[in-house]
Amino acid sequence: MRIIDHVISGHSGGGSARQHDVFDPNTGEVQAKVNLGTRSELDRAVAAAQAAQPGWAATNPQRRARVMFKFKQLLEENMQELAELLASEHGKVVDDAKGDVQRGLEIIEYACGIPQALKGEYTQGAGPGIDVYSMRQPLGIGAGITPFNFPAMIPMWMFGMAVACGNAFILKPSERDPSVPVRLAELFLEAGAPEGILQVVHGDKEMVDAILDHEAISAVSFVGSSDIAHYVYNRGVAAGKRVQAMGGAKNHGIIMPDADLDQAVNDLIGAAYGSAGERCMALPVVVPVGEDTAERLREKLLPAIEKLRPGVSSDPEAQYGPVVTAEHRTRVENWIQKGVDEGAELVVDGRGFTLQGHEKGFFMGPSLFDRVTPEMESYREEIFGPVLQIVRAGSFEEALELPSKHQYGNGVAIFTRNGHAAREFAGRVNVGMVGINVPIPVPVSYHSFGGWKRSAFGDQNQYGMEGLRFWTKVKTVTQRWPDGSATGENAFVIPTMG
Ligand code: NAD
Repeated sequence: MRIIDHVISGHSGGGSARQHDVFDPNTGEVQAKVNLGTRSELDRAVAAAQAAQPGWAATNPQRRARVMFKFKQLLEENMQELAELLASEHGKVVDDAKGDVQRGLEIIEYACGIPQALKGEYTQGAGPGIDVYSMRQPLGIGAGITPFNFPAMIPMWMFGMAVACGNAFILKPSERDPSVPVRLAELFLEAGAPEGILQVVHGDKEMVDAILDHEAISAVSFVGSSDIAHYVYNRGVAAGKRVQAMGGAKNHGIIMPDADLDQAVNDLIGAAYGSAGERCMALPVVVPVGEDTAERLREKLLPAIEKLRPGVSSDPEAQYGPVVTAEHRTRVENWIQKGVDEGAELVVDGRGFTLQGHEKGFFMGPSLFDRVTPEMESYREEIFGPVLQIVRAGSFEEALELPSKHQYGNGVAIFTRNGHAAREFAGRVNVGMVGINVPIPVPVSYHSFGGWKRSAFGDQNQYGMEGLRFWTKVKTVTQRWPDGSATGENAFVIPTMG
């Protein structure tokens, strides 16, 4: 049995008392075991990070950027291998897995420009003979705790910015698909990073708590489900750390009566069922405005859903693969049953789907609900599976209110040809990321990613300039170089520029 180990100080971690099964969701079989670490592995990683970080921070940003350039090149060269490894543990299809690596690579690309992005601010002559300048310095050691659904992209959101800014970074990836994070750390070493700058410790709650309590770790970035995000945020902040903690989502797609329905349905199918619905920026809720729009939408959705082909992740014809574990499939099936019990109309039932030759794989067919209402628990909570819910709205205002009042506020999309309605919607909706005729509005690397409400705790987004601000602290210097002509007067009042 393959053992997936920590990457501590550039080497493997050396055994563990506890292990976690890593499945191949396509076959349902355990394909590897990952060592679950404890405080003692974390202490070793922290010691290595402490030894390496001052030198890394003192390395000029251009040289740090060269490591990022080389790492980007290695990602490109190893794209196929990374995508296949990722797909074999996550279950998403290989092309989609390439997207997972590519969206992370784009953060690395942005981080190649760190010498420019890290430039400070300077004021000449802020007072008589006085200049003021501000610089951004790394925090020291940062940690990242990541979810199963983007095992390449999300670690790179975090460490791409953290290490480029001069920090050492300890990654605690999801124990469900930990191999790609390990490969990323190996490639980063190959790119020329010193040992101890990017390390991987595996684990579950025990390791997460050790990270949150560790006095030498200055900042923690978390992405995962909301209850755990909230817990991580509270515990990390109580320990005096800087914490950003992204949580779950329930993104809505609003379909205005004037939308290009063929385009919208095309987009919706990919956004609702792609990656088996296991994306925090998926569109699991569609809100047609007006009964006529709802009927037309349903009519077009049904044949599109019928054409969907779930399959093994290596099948180039498959649109989406299995869900990550059998346990997760049961959870999604329970939500479908809950929707039925609450009175929603189950138009297409994806439960009980099996793929010939892969009967033990964790596959699910696509499900579609109509006449879902805001009171239903299956609407209020995240399902995170290949399930699309139609919530019918009578008006634009009603449609605007649904995502705005929902407990999650990650992403939202509006489909319309009316620029005024789109502008009004984008300005007023109480959600962090908005798509206008764009179903999955994940911002590009030089903007930044973050939801609102229970989709994110803390105040800085991931990557872009927000990421840079999260991973650095500002130091401001007020300097004067007296010329020796002092008057001898003492100043007992606070100096002002008045
Ligand atoms: P999860 O919350 O189960 O796990 C996330 C991380 O927390 C993992 O590293 C896991 O080991 C750790 N963890 C699990 N249980 C813990 C506990 N009790 N105490 C401390 N740590 C614990 O999430 P997941 O199932 O891996 O990922 C899916 C979730 O992530 C969905 O809710 C999805 O919406 C969310 N997500 C959000 C974003 C975003 O940017 N907002 C992006 C991707 C995924």
